[in-house]
Amino acid sequence: MFKSILFTTAALGVLSACSNTNQLEVAAENDWCISGGTIYTADDDKPIVEAVAVKNGKIVYVGENVGDWCNSASFNNLREINLDGSAMYPGLTDAHGHLLGIGLREVTLNLEGVNSIKHLKEKVAEAVKTTPIGETIYGRGWIETHWPEKRFPNKLDLDDISKDHPIILERADGHAVVVNSEALNLSGINMSTAAPYGGAINKFDEAFGIENENKPDGMLIDNASQLINDLLPKLTPERKEEAYIIGANLYASRGWSGIHSMSVDPDDIVILNRLADENKIKIRVYNSVDVNNPNELPKVLNNDDLNSNELIQTRAIKLYADGALGSRGASLIEPYSDDPTNSGLMTLKEKEAKIMLERALKEGVQVNIHAIGDSGNREVLRWYKNAFDQIPHADRKITDPRWRIEHSQILHREDIPLFSKYGIIPSMQPSHAIGDLYFAEDRLGKDRLAGGYAWRSLIDSGSIIAGGTDAPVEIGDPRIEFYAAIERKGLDGFTSDAWYNNEKVTSHEALKMFTKWPAYASFQETKIGTIEIGKTADFTIFDTDILEVQGSDILNAEPLMTIVNGKVAFDALN
Ligand SMILES: [Zn+2]
Repeated sequence: MFKSILFTTAALGVLSACSNTNQLEVAAENDWCISGGTIYTADDDKPIVEAVAVKNGKIVYVGENVGDWCNSASFNNLREINLDGSAMYPGLTDAHGHLLGIGLREVTLNLEGVNSIKHLKEKVAEAVKTTPIGETIYGRGWIETHWPEKRFPNKLDLDDISKDHPIILERADGHAVVVNSEALNLSGINMSTAAPYGGAINKFDEAFGIENENKPDGMLIDNASQLINDLLPKLTPERKEEAYIIGANLYASRGWSGIHSMSVDPDDIVILNRLADENKIKIRVYNSVDVNNPNELPKVLNNDDLNSNELIQTRAIKLYADGALGSRGASLIEPYSDDPTNSGLMTLKEKEAKIMLERALKEGVQVNIHAIGDSGNREVLRWYKNAFDQIPHADRKITDPRWRIEHSQILHREDIPLFSKYGIIPSMQPSHAIGDLYFAEDRLGKDRLAGGYAWRSLIDSGSIIAGGTDAPVEIGDPRIEFYAAIERKGLDGFTSDAWYNNEKVTSHEALKMFTKWPAYASFQETKIGTIEIGKTADFTIFDTDILEVQGSDILNAEPLMTIVNGKVAFDALN
């Protein structure tokens, strides 16, 4: 809901009385005087103020009663904002998302919200109608955990819809696909195909009849999904460009001033810089790139020539240590409670990790490794520790590597203090908890969940948490993340003992998870993350104070404005 009168001068589209420049020259860059609402700074010395002034993209005043101060200073293109009861925060950053995937989701068959296998089939059948025979149908976003059929979809379900199109449907977590017989045949996958390292080709059991038993059922887990890569729609540079623009604009409109984009193709860095130069990407993008050859880290890392636009930064690599919990690919110390023969998968070999980690430490490259299961996390903690022990400070490009574990989802309680002890940053997504906790007890049992999504315990042990969304795995909405972090309940209000309510965080901690702490986790804490004099003007404005309202009211707040580097990235009133 928008409030009636918000931005007094902005709404009228005129420059204020204290402007001293040519009014016709509507530059993208403004100076700002912002007051009249609650302004959270994420700075412990002065957590809430009433007024902020910005000149040349930098914060020049933080305090009370901006009026006199603004009148006395000389500004260019001054835009005065009367918050009128709405609230402003340091620009919110999603510390773990996939910007390309966020954009692609908007232009791909979207299976989010599908609530049964029957519903899935209906959605895909619609796509079949408009797709020429032989062309791949690719959709993403399904998740079966609430479905009445209580099983994964399989190739027989999809064969009912079409045997003339390869059908590939990616699970919401990106860690499994289900495909039809045509896709299996075209990829040469049959009974005797061996799964690649870190992958599984699921097979039918006897319940599906003697004619199907032991044959691939169409579910390909983790690395096995690479077997069908040749059938996926080609990602041309044009399609990528379109997706990046759509994703970045969508994000700005949700109140995000920045994203730590994960699993980025090193070739995309050129595209991202150009799009930012052309003002088509207006939010900050901090990239973690894929590594194709363990013996050579990508050249785009820490390369100022290739990262020429200040919004685009690339100094991290992204690796995957294990799979995901939903598809039982997360690597566990003890087997899954609902599958006693399975302890999940490690998807990265220690030998290869060691080469990359030691190289990264010498070259000043940040390492961000995906780990979900308690064993996956324990292994990565050990690998990081070994690399730190192996490479003396004198041989490192930076002494403070700030390596991260992406997700840090299920931890053995004994491992929790190791994060702060080794200086490793847990990068966590509150929405995963409130999505997963419905089924996590089945997978893990209640006792193991004492170390699950353990935000409070990690903070109390001295860690900071880089807060993210993992979009497009999750929706990528700051309101949902704040709600999840502060309330730790389902969007329907559900909770139970196994959700460990004591692991929720305070509203001020939630703010830091999406402002100050991601700034530190991306080596940008001297520039962004808090509202302090000298820092860059990155702000997010909501019509409702999401730190003050209770419960699901957070979800009804509306983003009004996103300002990055003193420039408007999103403006709900224009
Ligand atoms: Zn991710």
